[in-house]
Amino acid sequence: MQAVLLLGPGQLSCQDLPIPTPGADEIVLKVTAALTCGTDLKAFLRGHPKWPMPTRFGHEYAGTVAVRGSQVTIVREGDEVMLVPTGPCGGCFYCHRQQENLCTSLMETYALGGYAEYLTVPARVIRTNLFAKPAALPWAEAALLEPLSCVMFGLEQTVLRPDDTAVVIGAGAIGLLHLLALRALGVERVYVVVRNPQRATVAQALGASGIIARSAEEAREEVLAVTAGRGADLVIECTAQPRVWEAALFLARPGGQVVLFGGCPSGTTVAFDTYRLHYDQVRILSPFHFTPKAVRCAYDLLVSGKILSNKLISGTYPLAQLPCAFALLQQGEGIKYAIIP
Ligand SMILES: [Zn+2]
Ligand SMILES: [Zn+2]
Repeated sequence: MQAVLLLGPGQLSCQDLPIPTPGADEIVLKVTAALTCGTDLKAFLRGHPKWPMPTRFGHEYAGTVAVRGSQVTIVREGDEVMLVPTGPCGGCFYCHRQQENLCTSLMETYALGGYAEYLTVPARVIRTNLFAKPAALPWAEAALLEPLSCVMFGLEQTVLRPDDTAVVIGAGAIGLLHLLALRALGVERVYVVVRNPQRATVAQALGASGIIARSAEEAREEVLAVTAGRGADLVIECTAQPRVWEAALFLARPGGQVVLFGGCPSGTTVAFDTYRLHYDQVRILSPFHFTPKAVRCAYDLLVSGKILSNKLISGTYPLAQLPCAFALLQQGEGIKYAIIP
């Protein structure tokens, strides 16, 4: 089978590998669609602390069950499924406290390798985070389950009201998924802070109440203008830059919430204004990854057809042309590309 390997920063290699055989409690998935993700682009450009190279990669995918292990009973060969690449162990300290996103062995069983014709899905993913794909849901949109799970996990930590004004900083795939999810959850006013005109157009098409075409640091005046001078009830940072984390705090109203969603490079630090945190009682949340509960919410939302998830897929490429998709993303072109092995 064909699989793309990341050999080192900037080095992709399409290789011919043997089709994997599943263990008794595993399945081998035939990938039907995989999606590019900002994390993959970052790994391609400068490596990833959790993915030592050479590595297979691609973590947003959906497909059909090609072979199932002898002990697997919940799916059959030929079943069309959608899934996320990790599952909790169920037995550690964090799993017992429903903080499965922090499960101590989460990363060890990360099912990377969506950029390939086949990959092995571990037992714990099959047990908790794998679902039947409805026939009506296109494959590329089914592969949005992973990023949408992260988004739903973050939103689960917040208190939302229909009359809230939310501000999303950034209109990459994650910012736009937040916009879609907030609208689907009934939040009527969602503004998007974005300077890239192409992405602003997509945000508008996806139902943004308005575009604030400024940097996060310069957006405060316009946010105050649309919130009767108070600041936003909810601010969601989706750029993964420390300076934007700091700026996000100044867009929230007293008593408001700030979700710092984008993971910054490790070792970076931020400084927060103590007045805003204490006297203005701005609440900061910094969600990481997802729990099975969030995956279920994301699944329900995707299959409900309530979100225009097709607008996030900017094009389709065969496996061998993955570098073209990365080149476009690097130029700020498009949101996500579907890779069809
Ligand atoms: Zn991703
Ligand atoms: Zn665990």
